[in-house]
Amino acid sequence: DGGGVPGRVRVAVRLRPRNAEELAADADFADCVELQPELKRLKLRKNNWDTDTYAFDEVFTEFASQKRVYEVVAKPVVESVLEGYNGTVMAYGQTGTGKTYTLGKLGEEDTAARGIMVRAMEDILGDISLEADSVSVSYLQLYMETIQDLLNPSNDNISIVEDPKTGDVSLPGATLVEVRDQQNFLELLRLGEAHRFAANTKLNTESSRSHAILMVNVKRYVKEKDPVLPMENGSNSHSAKTFKAPIIRKGKLVVVDLAGSERIDKSGSEGHTLEEAKSINLSLSALGKCINALAENSAHVPVRDSKLTRLLRDSFGGTARTSLVITIGPSPRHRGETMSTIMFGQRAM
Ligand code: ADP
Ligand code: MG
Repeated sequence: DGGGVPGRVRVAVRLRPRNAEELAADADFADCVELQPELKRLKLRKNNWDTDTYAFDEVFTEFASQKRVYEVVAKPVVESVLEGYNGTVMAYGQTGTGKTYTLGKLGEEDTAARGIMVRAMEDILGDISLEADSVSVSYLQLYMETIQDLLNPSNDNISIVEDPKTGDVSLPGATLVEVRDQQNFLELLRLGEAHRFAANTKLNTESSRSHAILMVNVKRYVKEKDPVLPMENGSNSHSAKTFKAPIIRKGKLVVVDLAGSERIDKSGSEGHTLEEAKSINLSLSALGKCINALAENSAHVPVRDSKLTRLLRDSFGGTARTSLVITIGPSPRHRGETMSTIMFGQRAM
């Protein structure tokens, strides 16, 4: 089913329920899409009598629960992270279609509404041993090719360091906070959200124009059975010993709430709007190119084209597992945006 296959992007589509405005204003509109979840297909209305049909790895209707979305989209990725691999879960779509609801919803008042980040941490905390292992998180915003630390606003230009040998990506300037329990994690997410709001107010921008990136590092000590140490150079067989040594297994989960995929009106009043539009287009199209390269099994994945893809370099492709949720709304008014979101998802498969 592709759920556990590394190197290939698993793509799900999720339809948001009609919102109050859609229910009130055009209560009699026909949805621009028709979903066939059993067939894992979606039909996009071209006009009154014609539709185009697209297949996905999973199709979630407006009735799909957060729990099910987590289990299908993110759980296989979380499980592989617990086994020491890297993995990415991303949401792509027009602003207002449910990216943050799907990934970042805290669900404090209604635990059934909790999103992927909170559920992932619950599974991670439930699986590891807190005495021996550790979970630590960084929370970042990527805006106009600049990485800001959402856990410490004074770090407003974090650089990406890539290990030329291993290809591992690290952010030495980013705050890394150890998580001890779920309450602790929720506080970090709230703090990050508050900092994001403050930073965007200061920059006179909206959160939909930046990417929010949660990085969860899991480090576990695993007891191996009698590993045989390689003999050192020049030593005789006396020094070769076997003993039970704990080995460290490291996995990294990256959750990316992408900037809104809509075309930004370039005639906007704020002077930086065109620059924002260019920057978002750059990173989303660079991401699209990398995902296409993975889908085509191409040897060359062009990660260098944007900060976003450089950041994700060790977390998709190779042995990493990647899930993409594309989010759409039902209104025929946004059919164009819905269409382009669907095409982004299709190219990833
Ligand atoms: P985005 O992050 O893509 O801009 P949001 O996640 O903020 O969109 O969602 C927009 C609004 O729609 C929010 O009020 C959110 O609570 C609501 N919403 C989105 N998806 C769902 C869903 N599947 N079920 C119920 N409400 C949803
Ligand atoms: Mg959002």
